[in-house]
Amino acid sequence: PTSQQDVEKWVKGVCRYCGTGCGVLAGVNKGKIVAVKGDPDCAVNKGKLCVKGILLPKIMDAKDRLLHPLIKKNGQFVRASWDEALDLVAAKFKEAIAQYGPDSVGYYGSGQNTAEEAYIANKLFKGCIGTNNIDGNPRTCMASAVAGYVSTFGKDEPMGTYADIEKADVFFIIGSNMAEAHPIIYSRIVDRKNSDPNVKVIVADPRRTRTADIADILLQFIPGTDLALLNSMAYVLIEEDLIDKDFVAKHTNFMQGEKKITFEEYKAFLADYSPEKVAEITGLAADQIRTVARLFGAKGKNTMSLWTMGLNQRIRGTWANNLVHNLHLLTGKICKPGNTPFSLTGQPSACGSIREVGALSHLLPAHRVVTNPQHREEVAKVWGVDPAKMSPKPGYHTIELFRAAADGKLKVLWVICTNPGQSIPNLELYRKGMEKTFLVVSEAYHPTRTSELADVVLPSALWMEKEGIYGNGERRTQHIAKAVEPPGEAKPDVWHLMEVAKRLGFGNLFAYKDNEEIWEEYRKLTIGTKMDLPPYARLRKEHGLTWPVPDPNGPDTYIRYAAPWDPFVKKEEGIKFYGKPDGRAVIFARPHANPQEMPDSEYPFFLSTGRILEHWHTTTMTMNVPEIKRAMPEMYVEINAADAEKLGIKDGDYVKVVSRRGQCRLKAKINGRGQPRPGMVWVPFHDTEISRMINFVTIDAFDDTSKQPEYKICAVRIEKA
Ligand code: SF4
Repeated sequence: PTSQQDVEKWVKGVCRYCGTGCGVLAGVNKGKIVAVKGDPDCAVNKGKLCVKGILLPKIMDAKDRLLHPLIKKNGQFVRASWDEALDLVAAKFKEAIAQYGPDSVGYYGSGQNTAEEAYIANKLFKGCIGTNNIDGNPRTCMASAVAGYVSTFGKDEPMGTYADIEKADVFFIIGSNMAEAHPIIYSRIVDRKNSDPNVKVIVADPRRTRTADIADILLQFIPGTDLALLNSMAYVLIEEDLIDKDFVAKHTNFMQGEKKITFEEYKAFLADYSPEKVAEITGLAADQIRTVARLFGAKGKNTMSLWTMGLNQRIRGTWANNLVHNLHLLTGKICKPGNTPFSLTGQPSACGSIREVGALSHLLPAHRVVTNPQHREEVAKVWGVDPAKMSPKPGYHTIELFRAAADGKLKVLWVICTNPGQSIPNLELYRKGMEKTFLVVSEAYHPTRTSELADVVLPSALWMEKEGIYGNGERRTQHIAKAVEPPGEAKPDVWHLMEVAKRLGFGNLFAYKDNEEIWEEYRKLTIGTKMDLPPYARLRKEHGLTWPVPDPNGPDTYIRYAAPWDPFVKKEEGIKFYGKPDGRAVIFARPHANPQEMPDSEYPFFLSTGRILEHWHTTTMTMNVPEIKRAMPEMYVEINAADAEKLGIKDGDYVKVVSRRGQCRLKAKINGRGQPRPGMVWVPFHDTEISRMINFVTIDAFDDTSKQPEYKICAVRIEKA
């Protein structure tokens, strides 16, 4: 963005965007961030950044930065003082709690919050107010990965790290367009492939994406049939004796639902998933499935699976995650360098600030759960609150939270650092809910599609205008230093929360001197949980550490559950999945099942949505970067060329995408960077223009276990517009 000669000092931080967690150095001149470069000492990116990362300075001085609090009066936003705005927020909370009880209020946070912010919100709502109505946008992007890890291994988050990429020989990428959504991780796979001609890349996705550019095999299956595909791969692994019998006998159990089954029963379950039968379900060739299973299970080769929203955003998301884990457990390709199932994360601190802090409606810090009385006791002790005041029942998860607002049950909702007015599926219904409730929004920008619905908007400090901790997708905890002052009267979200806490009468529990004190209180809750986090002082100095770090001065952990890497596993045990009472992971018999909505004569196409390289989420940041805005000013719908011809649609024509819930008007893209298979259309979810916001069309059905909505599949029709 500017000449490096203009830089007075470089300050260490982490990229503000995706869950890759690239380390950055921000160049400061005269109190402004004028340049960003990749941190060469950060193991994640070793100095590289993608287009979004390198243009980060431009998100700071945007013309829509909110500089002071706003209160809506007679339908108009009016400038207010901090005291006036915070007093009003506290009064509304008090009024609702007194009249309708603590469950009449709620909080919706973000995987972009710092860990300190999420920790304080969790303590305020769960510990002080006494409601578990605190959820966040990671519910919509990776709750199924959480439920998958917990049900299979007993503990959340991956066993491996990104360092496995350089050790893997076979990459199985399913439901992830890493080339655009996680470009730096993808670049490491490209480098690995270029370094060794024997490395194989398998990409499984109903849409041909840029990620498939390096694929040796592309499996373009019918949307929603990946459970059948994964079971079929397990079938071939067993049929062709590619499983590791010793590993399976020592380290796994087989389960069907809640029932323990034998290997023979599991094998009988798989009888319905021969490649020949599954070829019909998936639209693939039986030989393709066999080839892929053989590559996956090849003896002496290291295999790494990577996935993200394609598996997670589904009503069978948890099961899909279980089935990828199955393949690694059957072959013993797990807990060894280069061998790991690895769920990628979408946001910079979805792991660090939500999964680890426990800022979801069923969780408490360090992977504890609200339903466990001992967990509540342990947390209450550190928080200095009465455990009897903490609710034992999970609060509203995301869809329930916004439904409660629409039903009039949720009287006050505080949204921090996220934009549900654009990002929630079946949006029409839930935007009405946001209008109905007393909505408080803490935001760096205004207006957004959420802040426009608010009653009070509080100006937030952004990124390196505040100190904080982020935790990326590989268990890496990283520190962001404050580099510049926030503009106008903007303040860190942690300050917003603590000021309201004081006004609600809990000031004594939030008298922290600085972020380090907040972190060290939180860290106490991680000690002895096998999620032990490192001290703040170390994080300030070092370039990220992967937990557990049980010795505050000792090394971090490369691979969990396995000696010699995991400090909690004895050498003689070799491998121990200690999240499970018997130390064994579970291989689940999970059947294929259709998505919630299948195409029919009225709505004949599958719709799927996703990210593109240039933009991020609801584009409050990226549309403020002129270079990015020029490159991709408007979203579109990708249509398969054969379908487009049948419908008489040409590239660039405007079409309507219509579902049972709503519609969008978008430009048709044919043979572009992404090519959906016939019978499917695909839309990037980034557009902020109401007529192009695809979440008016998507479905709000959700996974029974993870409660994650099925953004990835619904039925639509295409009309010429
Ligand atoms: Fe930022 Fe992700 Fe790009 Fe890295 S890959 S620079 S974390 S957006």
